Formats: sequence, structure tokens, C-alpha cells
Amino acid sequence: MSEIRTRIAPSPTGDPHVGTAYIALFNMAFARKMGGKFILRIEDTDQTRSTPESEKMILDALRWLGLDWAEGPDVGGEYGPYRQSERGDIYADYAKELVEKGHAFYAFETSEELDLMRNEQREQGLQPKYDGRALNLSEDEVQAKLDAGVPYVIRMKIPEEGICRVQDMLRGEIEIDWTQVDMQVLLKADGMPTYHLANVVDDHLMKITHVIRGEEWINSAPKHILLYQYFGWDMPTLCHMPLLRNPDKSKLSKRKNPTSILYYQRMGYLAESVVNYLGRMGWSMPDEREKFSLDDMIEHFDIQRVSLGGPVFDVEKLSWLNGLWIREDLNPQAFAQKFQEWALNPEYLMQILPLITPRIEKFSDVADVAGFFLKGHLDINATSFDGLKLEDETLRKALQFATWKLESLSKWEKDEIFNAMKSLAQVMEIKPKDFFAPLFVAIAGTTSSVSVFDSMAILGPDISRARLRAAVNAVGSPSKKEGKRWEKEFQAL
Ligand code: GLU
Repeated sequence: MSEIRTRIAPSPTGDPHVGTAYIALFNMAFARKMGGKFILRIEDTDQTRSTPESEKMILDALRWLGLDWAEGPDVGGEYGPYRQSERGDIYADYAKELVEKGHAFYAFETSEELDLMRNEQREQGLQPKYDGRALNLSEDEVQAKLDAGVPYVIRMKIPEEGICRVQDMLRGEIEIDWTQVDMQVLLKADGMPTYHLANVVDDHLMKITHVIRGEEWINSAPKHILLYQYFGWDMPTLCHMPLLRNPDKSKLSKRKNPTSILYYQRMGYLAESVVNYLGRMGWSMPDEREKFSLDDMIEHFDIQRVSLGGPVFDVEKLSWLNGLWIREDLNPQAFAQKFQEWALNPEYLMQILPLITPRIEKFSDVADVAGFFLKGHLDINATSFDGLKLEDETLRKALQFATWKLESLSKWEKDEIFNAMKSLAQVMEIKPKDFFAPLFVAIAGTTSSVSVFDSMAILGPDISRARLRAAVNAVGSPSKKEGKRWEKEFQAL
């Protein structure tokens, strides 16, 4: 049998997500158990959303967890480059190969035309999808448009009827009707491939044998199966893992639960316990023990032990497990060292020192001024906001709107945060100073702290949002009805 090769293929468009670490862990455990290789590929073909900062955070987070890869953009390997943006014209060449073979076609519609088409379909009660209109163009018409430089995409052909049977390692056979599948764009107008094309081409060229990924990709499987057939390539084995869920069973989302690995790192969880907890998401050791190391997991790994009932990612359970790890596995020396790395590491400290130096006279003042940088949740309640200028109702709304606004912020930097909050204050017709005061309390516990915007930038989006959510709860979160009304008002701002 050929070597087992698995991969994690994150798109660097945000914070390192616990879901990415979860899937990486299972890919790694599977490959290592089978004596194979786990590799990392960066899927950054969406050039408007991908950033080098996000890529760095993802790599750092996975490395912190100890989920090391044998090949990847930073360590190289036989099948590189491992960053899709560096793989040149290969995808365009493959897309054109499919056109030549008659499996794909040029399409020239503008986005306005496509919107119109979809709206008409919706009005007729149909599920919007590409109706194949470009397939009616003659070869000459296509050539004339290409010669005239009309922008185009390349789409794949899809069978008009019948059923696609997807074989999944955990789910057996899944049937998906071909009429449910859209004529997927493979090559975009900017010449970049879509996820589907790049993913299949790279999995093939990188000799991936098993694709283990989240269940949200099941509906993409028919397109991928077809692409493998069109190219005449062997299909890797597919395995769709269950989605992680919030304790209320909804899909894990940052609105309800911190989802960034950086949050757990900043909160002072041990990498070992985070990995251990992720390993328990839908999987268990043969002896059902709750505490185990990555090596234990690899040694006993069997993918068939994954159960599909949506595993719940419960922060309290994780905290309990982390407590066990701290007590049972850290001797005083190790504790001291890890704690120092966590609290006093130069990278973190250097961000904080410039802020606090003007406010202290002796080291013993540091804890008072900078203590909130070392805490997780602050001890605040409704009375913490006493004496602020805003009326009760406005205060509650201001905190909630600020939380929503910051949940949608794509770039977490001081200026972005400041501008977002300032413009929110403006549209809510609240004096910036009065609007910022409760933010200080939420983030730092007091209005007299160092700059709240610097602080949020340093604490990171997840801790900041978690503190804001706690503040919203402290002053009284909106009732269901009120929440709906507020959300509308917020959208309209
Ligand atoms: N780039 C995709 C993601 O962001 C990869 C999905 C897959 O594993 O095929 O999750």
C-alpha cells in the first residue's frame, strides 16, 4: 500500500479556529497511527480575504498545540510550494484542460446578469443556480468573445440527472441528487481558481490519500468526485468529521463561544489539555479515560471510533480538564516555567509596558495597573457601571451594539477598533467619551485604566468580546423581543 498522506488545508482568512485544530488533530492522529505523513497546505486563493497575518497565527497556533506537519509552507517538502498563491498557472492550465476535454466551459455572464437570473429563479420558487446558458454559445461565439477580451470564468459541467454516491469512511454511502449540484465555477475572472479546483488539483499532486475534513464540506463532495473522474485521477478516501457545537447544540460560533485558539492560549490553558479536549470531541480512548496525551491518542487511534452525534465544545469541561493537567502534570519547576512563558513572555510584555510605564512609580504598582491583562474574566456586575453618564437603557444598548460591531470587525487593530467605536458612538448620537466609559469598565474593570483601544488590541478579539459579552450580561442582556428590535436598529445604523 502506498504511504498514507493526510492534510489540513486552512484558508488564512481569520483567527486560528478551534475547528481547524480539531480537524488537524484527527488528520495527524490518523496519519501517524498508520505510519504516514500529515501535511499542511495554505489555501489562499481568495486574495481579498487571505492575509499573511492570519496564516502566521494559524501556523503558530497549530505549532503551539504540537500538531506538527511533515511538509508545509514553512518546512518545505517534495510536493511544494504548499501555499496555493505560489503555485502559479497550474490551476488555470488544469481548468483549460477540462474545457478541451469537454468537461468544462467558458461563461461570460456579468454579475448583474447572474443576479437577475437567480432572482427570477427565486421568484419561481426554484433553488437558485447557474442555468447553463453559456453552454448554448457556439464555438465561434466563444472564440470571438475570448478574442475580444470579454472577462470569463470557467465552469464545470454537471450531470443533469441521476444520483451521486459519496463514500464516506464514517457515514458509509451518502446519496446526493445531481440536480442539487451547481455548475461550479472552477476558474474565476481574476484567473484564480476556486477552492474546489485548487483543492482537488493539490490533493492529487500532493498525493493525499485520505481527506478528513468537517461535515460542512459534504455537499462539495459530488463536485470533487466528478473532477477526479474528469481528470482521470484516483480519488482519495473521504471522511467527514462531525461539526463542533455550542452547549446549546448550535454550530460552534464566536457569538456564543470563543472559537480562536489564541483565546485559549491567552486564557492560560495548557496546549496539552486543549489537544486532549479536542481529542474527546466525538472520539474516546478504548478504555474511555478522559485524560490522555497526544501520543496516547496516536497510539490508540482508530477513526472508526469517531461518533457522529455533534460533539459539544464546553469551555467549563475544558477548564476542568485543564485543572487536572496543571495539578497532575506540572511539577513546581514546570509550573513556574510555563507560567512565566504565559504571563511574562517578552512579546506580550513589550506590548503592555509602554502603556503602563507612564502610570507607575514602582514595580509594586504594576499589578494594579496591568492586572487586567493577566486575567480572563473580570469580576464586574451592574454596580461596576454606577456613576457613568449613560442612562440605563442607553448603556445596555451601547454595550450590546459595541459587542455586535466588534464581532463583525475583520481587522483587529487599535485604529480599526477605535474608528469602529467612534463611528458607532456618532450614529448612536452619544458623546464618544460617554460611549467609551462603559467599554473601559467592561475591558479593564475601571474607567481610569490605560487606553481601552490599545488594551483590546493587545488582549485580542476573543477575550475582548468575551468581556464585552459579560458586561452586557451584567447590565442586563436584551430580552428576546428587545434583542430582535435592537438587531434591526443596529442593522439600520
Ligand atoms: N480550505 C478549506 C477550509 O478552509 C479546506 C477544506 C478541505 O479540507 O477540503 O476549510
